Amino acid sequence: MVNLAKFNLLEKSCVSCTKCSLSKERINVVFGRGNPKAEIFIIGEGPGQQEDEQGLAFVGRAGKMLDKSFLSVGIDTNKDCYISNVVKCRPPNNRKPEKVEVKNCSIWLSGQIELINPKVIVLAGSTAVQSYLGINQPISKIRGKWINKGGVKYMPIFHPSYLLRNPSDKKGKPKWLTLQDLKKIKKELESV
Ligand code: URA
Repeated sequence: MVNLAKFNLLEKSCVSCTKCSLSKERINVVFGRGNPKAEIFIIGEGPGQQEDEQGLAFVGRAGKMLDKSFLSVGIDTNKDCYISNVVKCRPPNNRKPEKVEVKNCSIWLSGQIELINPKVIVLAGSTAVQSYLGINQPISKIRGKWINKGGVKYMPIFHPSYLLRNPSDKKGKPKWLTLQDLKKIKKELESV
């Protein structure tokens, strides 16, 4: 069970972080959103404009897509998940976070994961897979396959922004594939 006092302390330190230059342009540090007591931890890339303005992860268009996709298999992201990103401050013009930024920021993500101790970690998009697991394969090759590491099960999925750009839900298309991946997550949680 998460120690909420420690989790709140971690957030308090994180929101005053100035370890890298992303801190200079941010409006808010985006620590995350959702339920720190949840069994699912979702990792995204980095905050966008809406997230920076509101100080919450995945609250823009991509976030709405993420919520809708998870809800279609009966998972409520605010109740059943905790959601965060590999970097906690918005990269300018939504560019990919740089290696050094990810490295400097990694203490916050690893602290969150250590305290929450989730059963399943969902990696949304290739940046999350590369940054967190060091796997450089294309997301289209590794999505939907469980990765077991250190007693945790990792499920790579397409990033919701990619689903916004590929809106077809026909069989075999990214949205349909994502639904299959999310069903696997739901099944895994029901079995443990
Ligand atoms: N995209 C991400 O990867 N993370 C967010 O929080 C929002 C959009």
